[in-house]
Amino acid sequence: MGLLSEGQPLSWKDTSCLAKFVQQRGLVQFATIYKNAASRRDKCHKWGDEIEYMLVKFDHENKKVRVSLKAAEIFRLIEEHKARQKNGINGYPTESYWNPEFGSYMVESTPGTPYGDSCDDRVLAALNSVGYNMRFRRQQVQQLLGPDEYVMSVTSFPRLGCPGFTFPHCDPKPKTSLSGSLFFPDEAIYGGHPRFKTIVKNIRARRGRKVIINLPIYQDVNTAKPFIEHFDDDEARVAAKPNHVYMDAMGFGMGCCCLQMTFQAAHIDEARLLYDQLSPFCPIAMALSAAAPIFRGYLVDRDCRWEVISCAVDDRTREESGEADSQPGTLKISKSRYDSIDSYISKYGEKFNDIPLTYHKSHYDTLIDHGVDPLMARHVAHLFIRDPITLYREKLDQRDDESDHFESTNWQTMRFKPPPSANSSIGWRVEFRPLEVQTTDHENAAYVVFVALLTRLILSYRINLLIPISMVDENMRIAQNRDAIEDAKFWFRKDITKCCQIKRKSSQENVDQSNHMINGSVSGSNRTDSENNYKTLDHEDEPWDGVDDDCDPQSCATLMTINEIINGTEEFPGLVPLLRQYLSSVEIDAGTLCTINNYLELISDRAALRTKTTARWIRDFVREHPKYNRDSVVSDEIAYDLLMRMQAMTKS
Ligand code: ADP
Ligand code: MG
Ligand code: MG
Ligand code: MG
Ligand code: MG
Repeated sequence: MGLLSEGQPLSWKDTSCLAKFVQQRGLVQFATIYKNAASRRDKCHKWGDEIEYMLVKFDHENKKVRVSLKAAEIFRLIEEHKARQKNGINGYPTESYWNPEFGSYMVESTPGTPYGDSCDDRVLAALNSVGYNMRFRRQQVQQLLGPDEYVMSVTSFPRLGCPGFTFPHCDPKPKTSLSGSLFFPDEAIYGGHPRFKTIVKNIRARRGRKVIINLPIYQDVNTAKPFIEHFDDDEARVAAKPNHVYMDAMGFGMGCCCLQMTFQAAHIDEARLLYDQLSPFCPIAMALSAAAPIFRGYLVDRDCRWEVISCAVDDRTREESGEADSQPGTLKISKSRYDSIDSYISKYGEKFNDIPLTYHKSHYDTLIDHGVDPLMARHVAHLFIRDPITLYREKLDQRDDESDHFESTNWQTMRFKPPPSANSSIGWRVEFRPLEVQTTDHENAAYVVFVALLTRLILSYRINLLIPISMVDENMRIAQNRDAIEDAKFWFRKDITKCCQIKRKSSQENVDQSNHMINGSVSGSNRTDSENNYKTLDHEDEPWDGVDDDCDPQSCATLMTINEIINGTEEFPGLVPLLRQYLSSVEIDAGTLCTINNYLELISDRAALRTKTTARWIRDFVREHPKYNRDSVVSDEIAYDLLMRMQAMTKS
């Protein structure tokens, strides 16, 4: 998205001067697309994943592993390779798509075309190719690397920010660098596009100081108590908390890797519903995928990257965040621009919106005046409390039906993605963003397929996961704690199947429920029916039309462990058993079913603690390493052995 915005970035001074203008334009752009695409129908249930990887280089002689700052070179090689193979291997150029990411040691890939692109594709059959495509993508980069280099899907590089963590070697230059970091050199920020360095510079300028990240140290038997680091830096001395690992650069967060997925919906209301329904699942998915127990060379008392990245791009001023008294008229902003969502946007979710939503009344009024409904207007106005953080001179002048000014830098657990322009082939989409990336393609495919199936369950079985937003926020905090998957309890909806039975209009009462959700892409003999079904949906039809949710928001949720949520209890069906039930009700070939069952088993095993989360596995590896001194320190040698082992796992 942002990378399409080529051009010359403006200084922070110019950017901030233009903020009001750009926000106003962005609001109108959103309203224009909202109006133009309001009745848009998309038959294909397209979707796709995004995986971020790190390029690492092993130094076997010295037992060191470093991030390799060669992403730009890899992008060039991929392009060359593609050009050579154009008429060669069947389908090669369309199987993957590569994007730069924050780190100059990072690459991001998506499938070359989204799954379900052709409406002939069966949605479920596509699930069989997810793992294959991920393996393909990894190999595609791997074959371009040198003998000691690997492309790895690691959420947080264990020694990011430690002396000499890059190849080639670069020292941080706190006095002169853009980030001012004591640990993270500018060379590790991707420089092939101005976006990333500009964001670093502007966030720091807007905050009026460096970013501050403090993660509690994992207190092991020999860890210093109190654990205090001494820094030769005025900002660090104030910002670093005792018993915490201190970090001071955007790279510590944006330099982590994650796993994301985007789903296209049949129409705007279905997208709004999916956005809402997937939101309460975000913290659960995050805890299930926890993979980041080490930062800056220390074991920390957290398992996930989220808080780090949230702090790493927090551009709020002291007044906005409430640290300092504010002038009248300053908005108090309770979260970073990278955080969990603040409001539901479907009519089903509305009554669960129980946290205050800040926005400028004038922004809200602009949206309303342009025909946006109040619930959506509040959501969008809330996004626009953030100043634009990167602007390009060449992109200032935009038509109303373009979306550059709307695509502001908001990074939340879920993202509501409107069609990029009025006549785009791309429809209303939602993005699911909380997952940490897993070590192997098999694991990543399992999480991706699990969430993809969950969307089917939401749309076809109409399971209902809504709980008050305040509880989702509480879950987000809990989910990041060490071993949250083992002992933490999460708010979850007690009765998720109440709306399960489908209440259709009479003309459609005989239509099989599995048809509804796939909108023409259901397998085999059902297809004609489902296409008819799709066509008979009229304008006012909403995915959950006829469902009435009379539950009381305050009493609809209860506390459950991840195992209970995923595998069920006597009172609660569990998401995996529901998915198995769903799968038995649709037509699906044996091979695909077998693949899916393997994926579901992995998710079920993780939840039931039959296998470890990646975070737990990494923590145990460190703690059991013969060179570990039980002092929380993850040395070069331990990190080397850890990543060597993780690399070996990707081959099996
Ligand atoms: P961003 O970084 O803004 O989230 P990317 O371009 O990196 O966007 O990833 C977009 C994801 O959406 C990819 O997985 C891609 O396969 C998928 N995708 C592309 N087109 C569609 C579509 N029409 N509907 C749903 N998903 C799509
Ligand atoms: Mg991105
Ligand atoms: Mg992307
Ligand atoms: Mg990315
Ligand atoms: Mg994305």
